[in-house]
Amino acid sequence: MPKIYFIDVTNRDGVQTARLGLSKLEKTIINIYLNEMGIFQSEFGFPTTRHESNYLQANLELADMGVLKPIRLEGWIRATVPDVEKAFTLVPNIRHLNLSISTSNQMIYGKFLGKKSREDILETTFDAVEAARAHGAESIGVNAEDASRTDMDFLVEFALAAKEHGAQRFRYCDTLGYDSPFTIYEAAKTLAQNVGIPIETHCHGDLGMAVANSIAGAKGALDGGQDAYINTTINGIGERAGNADLVATILAATKSKGFAEKYQLGNPIDLTKAWKITRFASYAFKVPISINQPGVGANAFAHSSGIHADGVLKDPDNYELYSFDEVGRGEPETVETGREICSGAYGGISGFRHIMGKMAGETAVPFRSSEEAGEILELVRYANVEAQKPLVEDELLFIAKYPQIARKLLTLKPLE
Ligand SMILES: [Zn+2]
Repeated sequence: MPKIYFIDVTNRDGVQTARLGLSKLEKTIINIYLNEMGIFQSEFGFPTTRHESNYLQANLELADMGVLKPIRLEGWIRATVPDVEKAFTLVPNIRHLNLSISTSNQMIYGKFLGKKSREDILETTFDAVEAARAHGAESIGVNAEDASRTDMDFLVEFALAAKEHGAQRFRYCDTLGYDSPFTIYEAAKTLAQNVGIPIETHCHGDLGMAVANSIAGAKGALDGGQDAYINTTINGIGERAGNADLVATILAATKSKGFAEKYQLGNPIDLTKAWKITRFASYAFKVPISINQPGVGANAFAHSSGIHADGVLKDPDNYELYSFDEVGRGEPETVETGREICSGAYGGISGFRHIMGKMAGETAVPFRSSEEAGEILELVRYANVEAQKPLVEDELLFIAKYPQIARKLLTLKPLE
């Protein structure tokens, strides 16, 4: 029986969004949280972008060390041989890739301006897939950008040929958020039936339907007999109006009427991590979680009107579809309202020792020597240069625990 998997693309689509970005350490923490949550794959960055190289290599080292396991770390590149060559030159250990190319007439004529035909699109993609295989890529997904505005006949031809050349998955990109649940269901089902390859859905929210489309697309793939891989981003952060929200999509796949009874997840997801990961992404992106965000918004479990409050007090099932503890809420949190010592790019040893010593119980970090404390502080200062805001506890602990990895993450060498 085909199953549903999640591929989070926050570290690719989220960070390429206008006005928004993440430090390399923040991206790493997100990979760690996604792994803890049971997300199948993280599209962790751009292997052809030079300032990503150290970050990508450091995260692959974390995978080898078992820290980022079992999550699969996959890079996004354009479907061209030069991009494949560059990816394996800059990040030799990369094992999972998604290769992307535009397939719609709009983009073929409007973007490539007549320099590429459909035949060129096919040829370029297959050469890229074969080059990636020759470099030892273990899994290759082929992305059809603007798939929702591409003729289905061509899309099937493209996906079939991609499969023949060695692609393991086909990503159907609703790049402009143009689909509705009805159209994407049919498209995903047709592709699954005619191509016989697992289908990824990549949905955007320009018409407010990213989550609904993701679920409908997954249903189409599953009804067509293939596994469904849903692309999400944390808090829905992504190009323009954003992508399918990670937590909302998991909730929709597991709680919506009739869906969970019929369709299964490929691996268990720990939704209790939702609170932590969404709050961290909100802090890192500096984008507040909206008050009515599913599961994690301030009002998601708030009731004031007489009828609702009375009803939920008698039986939460009256007005709540799922419980707050299922999404990791309900634990008391301490908010400092008095003096605070924060990490910063110009911090010193005294403040740093105070911060690290203040962490609760077993997470408090004792240093073996003042040299060791000084070294970690230096790395923390560099991390602050990139983050431009105080580091959170998990970031500080990460640096203290994996100083060599942190050093690599934080190393940027422009114009080399
Ligand atoms: Zn996108």
